[in-house]
Amino acid sequence: MIREPKSIVIVGAGQAGGWAAKTLRAEGYGGTITLLGDEPHPPYERPPLSKAVLAGEAEPRNTYLFEDDLFDSLDFLCGESATRIQRQQNIVQCASGRELTYDRLLLATGGRARPVAVQGLDAADILLLRTLEDAAAIKSRFEAAATVALIGGGWIGLEVAATARKAGLEVHLFELADCLCGRAAPPLLSDYLLDLHTRRGIDLHLSTVIKSAEKLSDGRYRLMVDSQAPFEVDAIVAGVGLIPNDRLARDAGLVVDNGIVTDALGVTSDPAIFAAGDVANSLRPASGQRVRYESWENAQNQGIAVAKAMLGQAPEPYDTPWFWSDQHDANIQIVGTPDQSMTCTVRGEPASDSFSAFYLRDGSIRAAVSVNQPRDLTVAKRLIAQAIPVTADELADPLVPLKKLLKKTPN
Ligand SMILES: Cc1cc2nc3c(=O)[nH]c(=O)nc-3n(C[C@H](O)[C@H](O)[C@H](O)COP(=O)(O)OP(=O)(O)OC[C@H]3O[C@@H](n4cnc5c(N)ncnc54)[C@H](O)[C@@H]3O)c2cc1C
Repeated sequence: MIREPKSIVIVGAGQAGGWAAKTLRAEGYGGTITLLGDEPHPPYERPPLSKAVLAGEAEPRNTYLFEDDLFDSLDFLCGESATRIQRQQNIVQCASGRELTYDRLLLATGGRARPVAVQGLDAADILLLRTLEDAAAIKSRFEAAATVALIGGGWIGLEVAATARKAGLEVHLFELADCLCGRAAPPLLSDYLLDLHTRRGIDLHLSTVIKSAEKLSDGRYRLMVDSQAPFEVDAIVAGVGLIPNDRLARDAGLVVDNGIVTDALGVTSDPAIFAAGDVANSLRPASGQRVRYESWENAQNQGIAVAKAMLGQAPEPYDTPWFWSDQHDANIQIVGTPDQSMTCTVRGEPASDSFSAFYLRDGSIRAAVSVNQPRDLTVAKRLIAQAIPVTADELADPLVPLKKLLKKTPN
């Protein structure tokens, strides 16, 4: 057991940083906790930004993660930015000139939306979505718009497209790759998304790049795309991925490679410094690989696990990632990471907007996808965790209750 640290500094008051602070107190840690975040808000959840907040169905306050009383038990520096880590002295320097001394430091700095350059436009013409302020800016542009363009057919682009469509806007979506969500979705889901968005009236253009654009005198934009008539739109939003906020770590000489590199406990190349959430490229014990996940559940679980690790406790493993997305009336969930080494079995019919797909290797489920079948996914999580042997036939047969499979003997 390591000696309990006297002071813990957490840089980044988001999903991971917020949960780490909460967990430290929940675990009875009695030392000083300083949580600093450069946004003008307490920790909040980002998933509603492309969904309920953008649709005007939830207020920014509804996204806040914790009740105010959590902040009575720690030093919360709201709107404060960490600018430098002096590792020799265990000090974090802040933009305000403040210096914070730490025994343990957690970097939970997340990432920022990757900008897109289009010839003929300024950066400010292409709206990005990461913060509450970004969501408010897009919402207000959408309220005055009839037609919008989305650049990027990943999760955020598709969610924003669906929300815009629900508000009655005409939506053109341009994706460089030849499929949607190609980085994260298996082909079956990618094909389903193409069909879903097409059926819901989104004008989708795969393998397409906006070559150049022109700002018109009425504030609209004309977009030039190869071998097609130009598109005229009122607003442009891009969702093309995330850049990890790893500059502090890089400048401090920590090992950085697609985010801050950590071991399975979240420890960076400096044993006093930890990293969690979207910024952390962490070792996953089951696969023996480093992965940087960008998901709500991973940020929360890593925040909790790293808090425990900072106190010298052994955290629970968090190896099987889970992710969800809401688009139109489809609730999409993925557990595990489907890949080409697995065979896919489908239960239900994708065209009915209600189905599950199971990904098997060596006689057990390794990953699963569900669309409007959350209960299937809940059972799949347990079948994966317990390594229960299953066959493709019983998974595909809607007359075989999935729950019954949990009674089989694990491998
Ligand atoms: C629009 C949108 C929709 C999403 N939808 C889903 C979804 O449906 N499902 C899902 O699983 N995931 C979703 N996600 C992803 C999920 O929200 C993120 O994975 C999660 O927020 C990551 O948490 P984090 O704490 O690592 O980073 P963040 O939440 O980004 O928090 C990091 C914080 O650190 C601050 N910071 C950075 N540098 C400094 C510094 N030097 N000093 C002080 N503060 C600093 C940042 O400003 C930020 O406030 C969505 C994300 C977005 C943007």
